[in-house]
Amino acid sequence: MADCGVSFMEAKRYYVTAQRERSRAGYRRTMRRQARVRIIILAVILSFAIAGGLLAAANATGGMENISDCNSEVGNLTALAVDQQTQEVQDAVSQQTQKVQDSASQSASQEQQGTPVDVTSVPHIFFHSLINDDRAFEADVIGQDRVAANNAAMTTTAEFDAIIQNLYDAGYMLVSLDDLCVKTTGDDGQVHIAPNTNLCLPEGKKPLVLSEDDLSYYHSYGIGTQGYATKMVLDENGKPKCEYTDADGNTSVGDYDVVPRLDSFIESHPDFSYHGARGTVALTGYNGVFGYRTNDYYKDINNPNLDPDQVKWLQDHPDYNFDEDCKNAKAVADAMKAEGWTFASHTYGHLNATDTPLDKLQYDNERWMATVEPIIGPTDKIIFAFGADIGPAGGYTSDNEKFQYYKEQGFNIFCNVDGNIGWTEFGDNYMRTGRVALDGFTMYQAMTADAGTHHIYATDYEKLGIHDISSFFDSMRPTPIESE
Ligand SMILES: [Zn+2]
Repeated sequence: MADCGVSFMEAKRYYVTAQRERSRAGYRRTMRRQARVRIIILAVILSFAIAGGLLAAANATGGMENISDCNSEVGNLTALAVDQQTQEVQDAVSQQTQKVQDSASQSASQEQQGTPVDVTSVPHIFFHSLINDDRAFEADVIGQDRVAANNAAMTTTAEFDAIIQNLYDAGYMLVSLDDLCVKTTGDDGQVHIAPNTNLCLPEGKKPLVLSEDDLSYYHSYGIGTQGYATKMVLDENGKPKCEYTDADGNTSVGDYDVVPRLDSFIESHPDFSYHGARGTVALTGYNGVFGYRTNDYYKDINNPNLDPDQVKWLQDHPDYNFDEDCKNAKAVADAMKAEGWTFASHTYGHLNATDTPLDKLQYDNERWMATVEPIIGPTDKIIFAFGADIGPAGGYTSDNEKFQYYKEQGFNIFCNVDGNIGWTEFGDNYMRTGRVALDGFTMYQAMTADAGTHHIYATDYEKLGIHDISSFFDSMRPTPIESE
């Protein structure tokens, strides 16, 4: 992969230059206006004086990054003050003073928590929906193709629990994708991205990013016949849980997938989450989301865009109500957001963005915006299906039309799949991370010395502090496990 250090330095240079440009513009504005409203100058000088004293205090504790934030806040105040009445200015100055005080004390408390972590090499792991029982591996019932897919791309609940415990024991702590970067909107209206140089974790903790792909309970997951949950629901406390039907036909609500299982782990291990961070859930739209059929094509069983699985599902569910499903899905999304979960596009149709032409990606994204965004709200993240990225490592170039399109559509954070765990790239207007799946395929490859990609995944698991995969690798899995 590319040398991440180069793009990191470029991004940092850009950030510093942009900061300087903004400061110059603010200064010129101030000079023009000072002559008009002389009394305001006194208030502004006062704010600088107060800020200066507090910043000196912050400096003494080593909070350099927050000081630059404080300076730009004071600059904003200067512009604000000259356009308003004296009373408003006094209010603003007092508010600003409070902000600076808050900032200084936050800086001090962050320093107490430890030194800033390097956000350019944070491991990003991901899972698909979890398998709850051995029906996922019954070839004579569900077919060899489904068994191969379940075995390679999925993780069982017992394996997930062991992995999370291993990661916790190794000192990892979840941070969000947004924690890794600083976003600023330039004069051109573009969102610029820089590495967050001020992410401080408690002593001994290491950052980790987690995502879950395809949380839709696709028709291909067997709707209750392959050991997956069937949908996400809210429990009596309004917490996101899963509905699951076991092999005997008993349906219950509980921790049958990544979201509620991780929430429960964090409830008993709060130091596994930095500032309440959870994971990012990547969603397509074609089968709906969270087990709800929120794609508007389902409204009409004669819609020519429906595939045979969708038509059969509609025939089997005569009580289906589109509006009701949208309402329930939105309630789940809201509860997840309240817990700290974030969302990403996974393309509407689970497209390979490397191979799909731009016009088809545009149409696909319009479908995603029409059918998924209304449920989960806006997002600036895209997690590419199949990990199929829109450009090679080394930076999205200015002539990359797919990147330009997604950027115009509001995406800033792009994620692919990369065996080199921790691979991260910062451009001046995007962040990109490479993810490693902790699934049947990578576990088997990592623990099997003569497997084809043993070395890659053994290295990844070792870096994560997961040293004994065979102790929790689920015995119900058929082996060997090859790539799908
Ligand atoms: Zn996917």
